Amino acid sequence: MNVPLVLSQFLDRAVTLYGDKEAVQCEGRVFTYRQLEGRVNQLSRGLQSIGVAKGDRVAYLASNTVEMLEGFYGIYQLGAIMVPLNIRLKPEDYLFILNHSESKVLLVDQDLYELILPIKDLLQTVEHIIVHYKEEATKEIGYDVWLATFSPESFKRAELDENDVCSLLYTSGTTGDPKGVMLTHRNNYLHALSSMHHLRVTDEDIYLHVLPMFHVNGWGAPFYYTANGATHICLKKATPEAIFREIEAKKVTVVHMAPTVLNSLLQYYDEHKPVVDQKVRIVLAGSAPPHAFIKKVEQELGWEFIQVYGMTESSPLSLISRILPQLSDLSDDEKSRLKVKAGYQMIGAEVKVVDEFGEEVPHDGTATGEIVVRSNGVMKGYWKNEKATLEAIKNGWLHTGDVGTIDERGYIEITDRKKDIIISGGENISSIEVEGVLYDHPAILEAAVIAIPHEKWGETPHAYVVLRENAEVTEQEIIDFSRSKLAHFKAIKSVTFTDELPKTASGKIQKVHLRNEHIESMKV
Ligand code: ATP
Ligand code: MG
Repeated sequence: MNVPLVLSQFLDRAVTLYGDKEAVQCEGRVFTYRQLEGRVNQLSRGLQSIGVAKGDRVAYLASNTVEMLEGFYGIYQLGAIMVPLNIRLKPEDYLFILNHSESKVLLVDQDLYELILPIKDLLQTVEHIIVHYKEEATKEIGYDVWLATFSPESFKRAELDENDVCSLLYTSGTTGDPKGVMLTHRNNYLHALSSMHHLRVTDEDIYLHVLPMFHVNGWGAPFYYTANGATHICLKKATPEAIFREIEAKKVTVVHMAPTVLNSLLQYYDEHKPVVDQKVRIVLAGSAPPHAFIKKVEQELGWEFIQVYGMTESSPLSLISRILPQLSDLSDDEKSRLKVKAGYQMIGAEVKVVDEFGEEVPHDGTATGEIVVRSNGVMKGYWKNEKATLEAIKNGWLHTGDVGTIDERGYIEITDRKKDIIISGGENISSIEVEGVLYDHPAILEAAVIAIPHEKWGETPHAYVVLRENAEVTEQEIIDFSRSKLAHFKAIKSVTFTDELPKTASGKIQKVHLRNEHIESMKV
């Protein structure tokens, strides 16, 4: 008989095999797997007592904490659906998501409670707000006090089908309004099996949560590190200093992060030279970090760098750039150049690069096409948005809106999002390629390249640049630098210096805001 692939099995396995092992450490609090299971059961009972049943949506607004981790399992074993909320949204975004998802309960970290105060009275479906460590008389209930009133004994679980939705995740909103992605138990379960294989996760792993758990579940970390009895280390505020400190103190073996966070980590390393004796087994990042970052991580820190590619709609990961044994003879430099590519397809995912007629482009590393994915991780659809679902999934293939190339080894490189490509004089320019060059400039800390309108060429590449502290460089010097490294039509034509780039909570640069800002500045 087939066993339904439901996520509670991962915690069960950890409790059976590793009950007294440390499951999670967070800001001085430590829980074993057995204790975590007890809290998970209390949470399920608590939610049940306020009327949460199978299929109900339970929203969660928290940074990386024990509560958030137990939230997944406590909500899932009820058959309810977790709606993790990005902690950097505006009140109107919370209002939109909470009403759109028709969430019944909102669990919120005390530090973030203020974010929802302005919209609290406008919530249409939320019946209870449960605040960590805070007791209030109205709709809100203090989490720990409330949890303590329920028994940690085994909980009678809802009967679940593996195709039941477990999470409703709103996309990052990098390109526009976030969309609610419905992921099932099966999606997350098979994504976890594939990821734990590719990352060789074991019970000796100590995993540091830097990527937020609300962002496509921190790339699945609550599932595959738990299933293997690894230890989770949670940090509320993942500053570079705290990351290095935790890595050393807790002997961290794996960490996942956004490239912008990796960038600040490396900058901190250059400036402060912290002592880092710990050999992190794997640093996992998405979004094409430049060659220079990868070299620094591998050669100076001695940590293995792996790039991954994915999107919320596919649970998320589909590609991984770990160097295969048959390529181990490549020089370190060649290896890190290969890792600038997003990688090859993971187990359980089929990834193709197709032209406008749906035909695969040649595997020559230069022909570009749209990346399409068919995998166990591909979502059930967008919540209450059938039109967008039909546009995204055609004949079973998820159309990612990303453009790339595939080489003879099967390595796929993401060259751009369709929406970010710059079309200048009829030629396509990859904003990612131009940014990669700018990051090699010693004065540049962060760069984002966008298309701006041009009378003759249609569009030209314009760079937004954040300089390193005390660095000085002129617009013309940056333009000349890019001309010395790129074909002239690709070189940037103008620069805006800024102190900060707009980013999503997961650390992605929101080029849509830069484009709007530029249009506004033209009107002045
Ligand atoms: P929205 O869909 O709301 O605009 P988003 O696409 O940024 O936001 P996510 O699902 O978090 O939301 O991100 C997926 C996207 O991130 C991919 O479609 C791709 O554009 C980008 N991405 C992910 N991994 C990589 C990578 N390794 N290289 C380049 N881009 C990547
Ligand atoms: Mg997207």
